[in-house]
Amino acid sequence: ISESIKQDKFENLSPELREKLIDIENQFNVTSDKLKEITRWFEKELREGLEKDGSNIAMNITWVLGLPSGSEIGEYVTIDLGGTNLRVCLVSLKGQREEIDIKQHSYRIPEEIKTGSARQLWDFIADSLDGFIKSHRLTENRNDRLPLGFCFSYPASQECIDHGILKTWTKGFDIDGVEGENAAAQLRDVLAERNLPLELVALVNDTTGAMIASAYKDPDTIIGAIFGTGCNAAYVENVGSIPKLKTDLPPNTPMAINCEYGAFDNAHRVLPRTKYDVTIDEDSPRPGEQAFEKMSAGLYLGELFRLIALDLHKSGLLFPGQDAAKLSESYSLDTGFLSALENDPLEASQTRLEESLGIKVTLDETRVARRLAEVIATRGARLCSCGVAAICQMKGISSGHVAADGTVANKHPKFKQRWTEALGEILDWPRDRKEDPIILTSAQDGSGIGAAVISAMTLYRIHSGNT
Ligand code: BGC
Ligand code: MG
Repeated sequence: ISESIKQDKFENLSPELREKLIDIENQFNVTSDKLKEITRWFEKELREGLEKDGSNIAMNITWVLGLPSGSEIGEYVTIDLGGTNLRVCLVSLKGQREEIDIKQHSYRIPEEIKTGSARQLWDFIADSLDGFIKSHRLTENRNDRLPLGFCFSYPASQECIDHGILKTWTKGFDIDGVEGENAAAQLRDVLAERNLPLELVALVNDTTGAMIASAYKDPDTIIGAIFGTGCNAAYVENVGSIPKLKTDLPPNTPMAINCEYGAFDNAHRVLPRTKYDVTIDEDSPRPGEQAFEKMSAGLYLGELFRLIALDLHKSGLLFPGQDAAKLSESYSLDTGFLSALENDPLEASQTRLEESLGIKVTLDETRVARRLAEVIATRGARLCSCGVAAICQMKGISSGHVAADGTVANKHPKFKQRWTEALGEILDWPRDRKEDPIILTSAQDGSGIGAAVISAMTLYRIHSGNT
């Protein structure tokens, strides 16, 4: 890929800048061989996670016993504690694969809560739920409690489905008093304190939710994956292939696993880290954690761009003589910015850069910025394919649908194509193939429909005595 900076359109750049950019391109280039090497390590870590507790990749048991039938029914309240919003839904499942009705509301999570205390977090959630219940008059004409599905998109180990010990916050969250604690119990306590008419049925990871919601409609679903603020995937294992799980369930029982593979290679043995990746890690609230996520997920793509641009600016190679103070603000540029930079017409990208950075930007500098955006997003997409490739290799899966959700998957127009191409390189798909055997599909609403379907499956299991 070092070809590209050598292209004509970059011929006006100073030799110093060109040299520097070629170096950056090389550092961010992940060859097919490297992808395969990463995937081998990845598969090894996935297997270790199934073997013993405390492994680097957690391979969390979700207690979701297989995929839904599509006949699940009932009314459920769900909540999704995301990076930006708390989303509350009332989901009605009609039991006919497609028939679903949703009423929803998003509550913006105040910045101070993301770095505040557990008390503030649960109060905020309880207030939002209270408001939602009132505005939709959910208590009218009923005196039973509504089942609640809680989508908690952080690494939580579960002894049963309505339980979840948070291992560590990820994605920049840093709330005191939840790590090492049972987040489900904390939520249940505040529901009881406020006398809210809700019964917590299931705590669900967003990847599991995406897989189940998608499988409700599409039986070819093999994996639920999030390529968003964070990155992770879930798939279905057989109980008999999970040595660490001591259980009476028959070995052929299907069990959804939430991989938590954002933590892959925390020991830094194989991922091609650049100095920018090291800076992101060191300046994060949890250095040494989520190594894979920090190189590939949405939260960090814009930040990588900022760090590289700042580096070039400080060396006098980009925006010389201008006050690019904006470039010194951490996390000021997001994935949407990066994606627009790459995909908008050049003039529009120039305007966008000027507005975001508050400086004058030449067309040549815009081309450089665009190339950086491409290089960063391409590396991210290629790395992302390694996680899914490793699951498929481990399980011997050769075809099916990977239900994907998250800002990178949905808002970056080139992600899917780059990801698929890389997956084909790893899995040695024929170059002249007519169809891709594994296809990235847009996941159905995992934190709403998924959490509801999982709650339905759980209640059905409890009522039929198979707990
Ligand atoms: C979390 C996962 C989650 C992923 C995608 C990661 O940071 O640890 O639980 O599935 O982000 O949201
Ligand atoms: Mg989310």
